[in-house]
Amino acid sequence: MGKYFGTSGIREVVNQRLTPELALKVGRALGTYLGGGTVVVGMDTRTSGEMLKSAFVSGLLSTGVDVVDIGLAPTPLTGFAIKLYGADAGVTITASHNPPQYNGIKVWQPNGMAYTPDMEAELEAIIDSGDFKKAPWNEIGAVRKADPSKEYIEEALKMVRLDGSYSIVLDTGNGAGSILSPYLQRELGNRVISLNSHPSGFFVRELEPNAESLSVLAKTVKAMNADVGIAHDGDADRIGVVDDEGNFVEYEVMLSLIAGYMLRKFGKGKIVTTVDAGFALDDYVKPLGGEVIRTRVGDVAVADELAKHGGVFGGEPSGTWIMPEWNLTPDGIFAGALVIEMIDKLGPLSELAKEVPRYVTLRAKIPCPNEKKGKAMEIIAREALRSFDYERLIDIDGVRIENSDWWILFRPSGTEPIMRITLEAHTEERAKELMEKAEKLVMKAVERA
Ligand code: MG
Repeated sequence: MGKYFGTSGIREVVNQRLTPELALKVGRALGTYLGGGTVVVGMDTRTSGEMLKSAFVSGLLSTGVDVVDIGLAPTPLTGFAIKLYGADAGVTITASHNPPQYNGIKVWQPNGMAYTPDMEAELEAIIDSGDFKKAPWNEIGAVRKADPSKEYIEEALKMVRLDGSYSIVLDTGNGAGSILSPYLQRELGNRVISLNSHPSGFFVRELEPNAESLSVLAKTVKAMNADVGIAHDGDADRIGVVDDEGNFVEYEVMLSLIAGYMLRKFGKGKIVTTVDAGFALDDYVKPLGGEVIRTRVGDVAVADELAKHGGVFGGEPSGTWIMPEWNLTPDGIFAGALVIEMIDKLGPLSELAKEVPRYVTLRAKIPCPNEKKGKAMEIIAREALRSFDYERLIDIDGVRIENSDWWILFRPSGTEPIMRITLEAHTEERAKELMEKAEKLVMKAVERA
């Protein structure tokens, strides 16, 4: 059976595996799966966006599904529009933070969360069967163009209130957030200095927001004496933050701070995160009445947990945040408004960041061919359980073993032929000691697999 969807929808190099023909088939499959109704379609700034969107929309229309085309739209605006228009699904034509030669297709449910792997597998089965619904001539779908930006801003302004006004440097990476993110911040009464806001599909910086790719943002925050720097990836479902002193705020620190702020804003409750998140979050939110729940890695797993069991906030250490009071779609733009509200209520970021405990995190990659991953993980699980003295085991995604002052996660990469080891300890010495043992264990397991 054809496997088209990866860990975050379809994501491929354009005109190689991701062709207009494939986009057409996915559109036909989604329309067949839905059997009717309306689908919201948005796209990021990539040069291949219009080409793929046209083919995809054509496929949907052929099955009798109507389309609301919202044009250039960050992922969170697509999620918002699904609810606004009462649509049956949403689709973003995006490759998120991948380089410009990539594009992709990500499908969203009516409640704003992404399609689960099971739902994606159903679409794949329909593509492989070639058994697409064909609407008769008088039931072919219709296209309507719409721009939900104004409603998005209005709703966001109802939920975020500022007493002061702040100066913000906003680096949208020439991505889909280039218009909506500065628009929202200005409507909140802030002064915005925009970087990389030309939505051309030609990217000036690497789209993944990290200390290195945001070095110009950091320098600009300092030079302009700004209160904060905010950055997004290509489809603006993620957020990276630079503090008032021009330092990139580590993801784990930002995750703790915003989770804590959500507890203050919305009251005590569950904070959902993934198995690769560290202890700082638990330690920071506990005194604020937060209980941390860990899921598989990926925004779908976090949203799924929030949808089924509720919670105040869901976030991954990659800067992907879900605010269930707002939507189940990860939203880097609304997240930016919340960061400013947090600064407004609690004080400058450089000071807030000091309150979050810091532990030592180490990461390693061990080469492992994809076909050996399953067997190697079996051996790793068995050996790790035997050779480490641990208190708790979480095996929903890879194997995470933990004690009161350290944890180790063994997890095969979903996209590359490698095994990942992530671990955290209270001291550098202990972390290195654990890593040495973990690396040996994984290398041996890969060898034997
Ligand atoms: Mg993204």
